[in-house]
Amino acid sequence: MKKKLLSMILATTMVAATLVGCGSGSAETAAPAEEAATEEAAPAEEAAPAEEAATEEAAPAESNGTKVGVSMPTKDLQRWNQDGANMQAELEAAGYEVDLQYASNDVQTQVSQVENMIAGGANVLVIAAIEGSSLGEALDMAKAANIPVIAYDRLLMNSDAVSYYATFDNYMVGTKQGEYIVDALDLDNAEGPFNMEITAGDPGDNNAGYFYNGAMDVLNPYIEAGKLVVVSGQTSFDEVATPTWATETAQSRAENILSSNYADGTQIDVWLCSNDSTALGVENALAANYNGEYPIITGQDCDIENVKNMIAGKQSMSIFKDTRTLASQVVKMVGQILNGETVDVNDTETYDNGTGVIPSYLCEPVFADVNNYKELLIDSGYYAESDLQ
Ligand code: BGC
Repeated sequence: MKKKLLSMILATTMVAATLVGCGSGSAETAAPAEEAATEEAAPAEEAAPAEEAATEEAAPAESNGTKVGVSMPTKDLQRWNQDGANMQAELEAAGYEVDLQYASNDVQTQVSQVENMIAGGANVLVIAAIEGSSLGEALDMAKAANIPVIAYDRLLMNSDAVSYYATFDNYMVGTKQGEYIVDALDLDNAEGPFNMEITAGDPGDNNAGYFYNGAMDVLNPYIEAGKLVVVSGQTSFDEVATPTWATETAQSRAENILSSNYADGTQIDVWLCSNDSTALGVENALAANYNGEYPIITGQDCDIENVKNMIAGKQSMSIFKDTRTLASQVVKMVGQILNGETVDVNDTETYDNGTGVIPSYLCEPVFADVNNYKELLIDSGYYAESDLQ
C-alpha cells in the first residue's frame, strides 16, 4: 500500500516538476502566452457541448492535461458551494482539469481527499481547510511531490508546504461589523448603556480570531466606557466561539444566554455575530425565547436565509464576500504558478502560519444591508430575485 502510494507520488513529482520547470523556464518569453492562446482558440472550432456551455459563460477550453485539486470543507454552508462551483467553472474555462471535493466538515475525510488528489496527479492544490492545523501529513506529501498549495479563504497552519494564501481581508470583516454597531447605536453620542452579546466562529479556523479581533478592537473602548454592557459577561474569544460554525451550537448557546440573562424582560440591543450561520442560530433562539424589541444583529456571507431575514428585519447587516472575485483571483494565481510567472499578492506581512508569513492576496469585503442588497446581490447576478423569495 505504502509502496504503491510512494510510486504514485514519485510519478506525480515527475509530472509536476516537468510542468513547473517548463513554466518557469519560459516565464520571461512569450511562449506561455502563445501556448495559452492556441489552447483557448482550439475549442472554438468545435461546437461546445450544450450542457457544458449552459454552466459556463464561455465554452470550456479543451483540457490541457493540467490538474487542479480543489478541496472544500462542506456543502452545508452555501458559500462553499458557490466557491467550489465558481472555481471549477473558471478553471475549466481556462483549460484545467478539476478535481473538486467536499469533505462534509470531517477532517479525516478532507485529509483522504487531498491525499487522493495528490495520488491522482494534481499539479496544484487549492484547499479551504476544515481545521487549519489538521492537514499536516497530506501537506507534507504535497511538498514531497513538489505540488504548490494555495490556502483558500482559510489559512493552512503550521505547514511549510503552503505557497500562497488567497482570502478576503478578515480583520476588515470584523472592523466593518464593529463600525456598523457603533453607527447604528450612535455610540459616540447616545448615552446608553446598551446591552450586547457576542457570538464568534470556530476556534479551529484561523479566520475566526481575525473577525473577532477586528470587531472587538472597534467595540472594546465602548465596553470599557460602560456604553456597551455584555450582560452574560461572556466576552473572551474562548467563551463566545462556535465550534465548526454550527448554527445549532450558536442557537443553543444563545438560548442559554437568553434564559439566564434576559428572561426577566431585560432588553438586548445588539448581538455581534461573526457570520451568517451563527447569526441564524441566534435569530432562531430569539424567535422562540425573546419578546422584547428586536436587537441589531451582524453577519457575514450574505447567505440566502440571512438575506431573507435581512429583508424581513431579522438581521441588520451582513458582509458580502463575492466568491466570484476570490475564485477569479485564485484561478489567476494557479495560472501564474503553472506558467512560472510572478504571482500577484498584496499582503506579505499579516498571515504567519507558524512557519513564516505566507504571501497573500486579500480581496475587499463589502458591507451589505437591506438598502443595498439588490444592487450588490441581484443586479450583479450573484442571486436571482427568486432565490430570495
Ligand atoms: C469564512 C466565512 C464563513 C465561515 C464559516 C470562514 O472561514 O471566511 O466566510 O462564514 O468560515 O464557513
